[in-house]
Amino acid sequence: MSNEKIKVLIPQLPSADEILPYLRRIDEKRTYSNYGPLTTEFRDRLGKLTGAAGVTFTSNGTTAIEVALRIRAIPDRRYCLMPSYTFIASAHAVCNTGLTPYLLDVSERTLTLTPEIAKAALRDLGEQPAAVLVVSAFGAPPDQVAWRAFEDETGIPVVFDAAAAASSIRQVGKQPMCVSLHATKALGIGEGGAILCADTGLTERSTAMTGFGFLGAERVSAIRAGNYRISEYAGAVGLAVLDALPARLVELQRLTDGYRTRIGAHKRSRLQEGIGETWLTMTPNVIVPEDAVQATIARLDEEQVEWRRWWGFGCHKHPAFADVPRGDLSTTESVSPRVIGLPFHNLLSDTDLDRVARCLP
Ligand SMILES: *Cc1c(COP(=O)(O)O)cnc(C)c1O
Repeated sequence: MSNEKIKVLIPQLPSADEILPYLRRIDEKRTYSNYGPLTTEFRDRLGKLTGAAGVTFTSNGTTAIEVALRIRAIPDRRYCLMPSYTFIASAHAVCNTGLTPYLLDVSERTLTLTPEIAKAALRDLGEQPAAVLVVSAFGAPPDQVAWRAFEDETGIPVVFDAAAAASSIRQVGKQPMCVSLHATKALGIGEGGAILCADTGLTERSTAMTGFGFLGAERVSAIRAGNYRISEYAGAVGLAVLDALPARLVELQRLTDGYRTRIGAHKRSRLQEGIGETWLTMTPNVIVPEDAVQATIARLDEEQVEWRRWWGFGCHKHPAFADVPRGDLSTTESVSPRVIGLPFHNLLSDTDLDRVARCLP
């Protein structure tokens, strides 16, 4: 039996040879940024793939959230409701827009904030928040129907942090969907992000906000903005990524199915709902029973199987956010230690999957 360490994540982007034809197109055109031909083609293809009428590229997933919140948050209000259980980028993005995060709990079943939890918080908060940032749990597509109803009922704008869900989204409504194109996500180009939205007015605005607020008239800054664009070189990688995506998704499906059959009904551990059925991710988790957490971790370490708590124990446990206000976080406290990120990359063999699964209760 090989005792070589099994790594938790090994990113894989297109090779230099796969990107080269696109780089040659940049050489010919001598357009290097500002939605040149490659970025425009990447935008159109990504829009078609995700079912989004509008796509704005951003420098990364964090700035995508910042721009979307700056557009949607109701002015002169303080708080942005958000789950504590998320990657820490979500909390940084909220603060960078000038809002104060109000950290909320998640559902034990879906690991996400739900409209019910948000509505209960509205009753406790004593003032109306500026927005809600709803986070996709590790790439599971968010419940757009339920959050549309929440916004219609409460008037509070919703923005989705669907950072890891870019490859699983097939439909996008008027509530902006912010995705990350970081190397560790299923649709990674290195660094990058996008705001997907069916509201073309919002897309026009968000695109202007990534380029100095130039909206309409050339070189006239119409709105407060910044520079969050991606270059044509990023567009070149993006096009090569989309070329390779069908084959890559087949591979991610094979690995996910491998875990599904090994963990299945006969173990006490479970995978996230719908994974391998309606969505795929680079960071699949196993959720283990509370009484088995310590023993599971010890076995993984002993078997040289690398693992991660990708989202730790919640934003409120990070020193930078220790002082932000919060509601009841009891489910976050109880479930976060039980969510364990499994090895996931294309070098995993069936024997490796067996070795990982043997460690799981
Ligand atoms: C990856 C991620 C982000 C940040 O995306 P970047 O492109 O790295 O800035 C934000 N939120 C969640 C939930 C993520 O997983």
